[in-house]
Amino acid sequence: MSLENSSLRELAAALAAKQLSSVELTQRFLDRIAAANPALNAFVTTDPERSLAQARAADARRARGDATPLTGIPIAHKDIWCAKGWRTTCGSRMLANFASPYDAHVVERFDAAGAVLLGKCNMDEFAMGSSNETSWFGPVKNPWNPAFVPGGSSGGSAAAVAARLAPAATGTDTGGSIRQPAALCGISGLKPTYGVVSRYGMIAFASSLDQGGPFAKSAEDLALLLNAMAGFDARDSTSLDRAPEDYTRLLAAPVPGAPADRPLAGLRIGLPRQYFGAGLAPDVAEAVETALAELRRLGAATSEVDLPASDLAVPAYYVIAPAEASSNLSRFDGVRYGHRAAEYGDLVDMYCRSRAEGFGAEVKRRILIGTYVLSHGYYDAYYLKAQKIRRLIAEDYARAFAQVDVIAGPTSPTVAFEFGAKTADPVQMYLNDIYTIPANLAGLPGLSIPAGFGAGGLPVGLQLVGNYFDEARMLAIAHQYQHVTDWHRRAPAGY
Ligand code: GLN
Repeated sequence: MSLENSSLRELAAALAAKQLSSVELTQRFLDRIAAANPALNAFVTTDPERSLAQARAADARRARGDATPLTGIPIAHKDIWCAKGWRTTCGSRMLANFASPYDAHVVERFDAAGAVLLGKCNMDEFAMGSSNETSWFGPVKNPWNPAFVPGGSSGGSAAAVAARLAPAATGTDTGGSIRQPAALCGISGLKPTYGVVSRYGMIAFASSLDQGGPFAKSAEDLALLLNAMAGFDARDSTSLDRAPEDYTRLLAAPVPGAPADRPLAGLRIGLPRQYFGAGLAPDVAEAVETALAELRRLGAATSEVDLPASDLAVPAYYVIAPAEASSNLSRFDGVRYGHRAAEYGDLVDMYCRSRAEGFGAEVKRRILIGTYVLSHGYYDAYYLKAQKIRRLIAEDYARAFAQVDVIAGPTSPTVAFEFGAKTADPVQMYLNDIYTIPANLAGLPGLSIPAGFGAGGLPVGLQLVGNYFDEARMLAIAHQYQHVTDWHRRAPAGY
């Protein structure tokens, strides 16, 4: 098997057996990036010398005998994570020349594990988008077909892993930005329970929804990555102080006592009625039904569950997320860091011009909406109402998880769409996240894995949403599915 298609475990074994060095492995991926990135635009920044220096240090560490499973493995970071000395743009002109003076907790964790930072990945501006068309650095192309979007906002990370330009990558998911691009690019992606991965050093979009997580080819790889990413961090007030977990521990046997040929026997999977109705494209429905049949063959039982408040999730999200964004983005004022207009009159004019030039149209739209819904006289009607809907959505899930162990359905209503198809109508763009947003509002973990192909040979994603802190079991269910299917091994033609 080629290095590009190897799992993280296989790469670690090859490094341990001295079949190759981290320097060679890193150089291999840097070469692939240099060849493919001009067409894909998945990376905003690479710094080969810096990456190779980290690879040399990883080789030395391995030679000393204190390697972790990720020592020497190259990993790409979404350009929302601050990495010391690296340009950290968040996909915005506002931060186009910002070099971070410190590391995000997640970056520290990967450094501590000995992973190699391969480069920073393109993304929708400030993580606002579902197609990667809002990036100041231009759109990312979907490696399955460059006329189609890779999904967003973590589109660069997803495209990089799909095109085998990186063995793994990080992303963030506020309303679907890990799961949706994973689905549209045919790879695996996980959004953990809110609070499991520290947000320290992750440029804030909507703080009560933002959660970091990994992208990889397989669920097994995601588990290894989450082992490194997760953990308490006192610098994030919403970071959860829990005992560390080994997220790989259930991979081989998700259901205790289940027979080897029916490893999911006894597992109850809920299918939300609201996720299989109008709005779901027939090709996606068909692929998801086939995947569900496979899960039943593995022993799982499926039954319908009701999430009656689901249709309120997108409107509630588009009040809460912009409200929090309008507050978070007020720090970009042209004074402390970020873009400052070259010409201005007084101080207020400097703020106005710097923000007018530094932010793109979608970011401005969100700031305007957010400021409006938080303003006196509208707060109760919009923001408070949206928070009540948020509670209803969490209660829907609580009722469902009294009946089933995990919820399954499509990640996205359609396969990837063409560039420009939804840019004229923001609401059409927002509706892309109809199946992913509810888990963010409730703070629940969700993952997407490849489940076949739809129209135009474009990938379809299967989503699993679990109860709080049920990542290990969700990853194990996905792993068992990947044991009997090979969708996750398919690479786009030419990569
Ligand atoms: N597409 C959604 C939005 O535009 C979600 C983005 C995200 O998860 N960061 O807000």
